Amino acid sequence: MDISVVIPLYNEEESLPELTDWIRKVMLDHNFSYEIILVDDGSNDKSWQVIMDLKKEHPQISGIKFRRNYGKSAALNVGFAAVQGDVVITMDADLQDSPDEIPELYDRVKNQGADLVSGWKQKRYDPLTKTLPTKLFNSVTRSMSGINNLHDFNCGLKAYKKDVVKSIEVYGEMHRYIPVIAKWAGFSNIQEQVVQHRARKYGTTKFGAGRFIKGFLDLMSIFFVGKFGKRPMHFFGPVGVISFLVGFFCTVYLIAEKLISIANGTSYRNITDQPLFFLSLLTIMIGTQLFLTGFIAELVSRNSTDRNNYHIERVI
Ligand code: UDP
Ligand code: MG
Repeated sequence: MDISVVIPLYNEEESLPELTDWIRKVMLDHNFSYEIILVDDGSNDKSWQVIMDLKKEHPQISGIKFRRNYGKSAALNVGFAAVQGDVVITMDADLQDSPDEIPELYDRVKNQGADLVSGWKQKRYDPLTKTLPTKLFNSVTRSMSGINNLHDFNCGLKAYKKDVVKSIEVYGEMHRYIPVIAKWAGFSNIQEQVVQHRARKYGTTKFGAGRFIKGFLDLMSIFFVGKFGKRPMHFFGPVGVISFLVGFFCTVYLIAEKLISIANGTSYRNITDQPLFFLSLLTIMIGTQLFLTGFIAELVSRNSTDRNNYHIERVI
């Protein structure tokens, strides 16, 4: 099979018929063999009924329904587990992404060696309150991940080599960072394609302003887990030691200063009157705690089931 299209959806009953018809038209025009996997993320409108009706005339459609709303990442993860096509396309259900982009995305993955192609909504039809924070979000993600060629990490329209989706795991709200997760898993050919974007035709957006705060927290987690997940002590250890040593040497200095003053008979302040003393106390305590946190994190990661999970590309 050439293409699997994965579509996570939550209360998108009005869009689905138009979307699947459009996809079918594109697929027929280009003679692709394909499947459309609609993942109903616990909708409480008639989305599931619509999916069942669509499937009757369109056998390439398959549907997966969650009992409740788990979020877009969960929906993608389940969709990824089910795909069979060589190239996997994800798109939003709200008709903001255009299926006309599929042939070019397919070509770049299939014939031009891309592991992942991310859409870039260069011209967006979203309110300013959304586009402005998004710019900031993207530039932070770019600099932290080292993926400098992407302008739009969170674009719903993406294409993947099948290998990629089978070896990554998307959970929580990590769908915003799939390119970063893919890079950590060792897929380095990450490209971008300018795509059409349209205003939402039916329904409303499912993410509020909280997305930006959660987004940044998730970014920190991704980096920590990606870089130090298998060796947490390498993160906590050095920071803890530095903090401890700073406090330790300050204390030594304070004591030495006082002893010297006593020996010389000059006036001196009580150690407890000096701000430096309290700072030293604090850094020693923080240092010890970081160190202990490192130990505990090592114990936790040693017990995790995927401590020896690596992405093996080939064996001969
Ligand atoms: N979505 C989902 N589960 C959720 C929230 C959203 O499956 O809990 C789907 C939604 O139906 C749409 C896609 O994720 O197909 C993107 O959502 P939306 O268009 O609301 O996001 P925006 O375009 O505002 O970023
Ligand atoms: Mg949308």
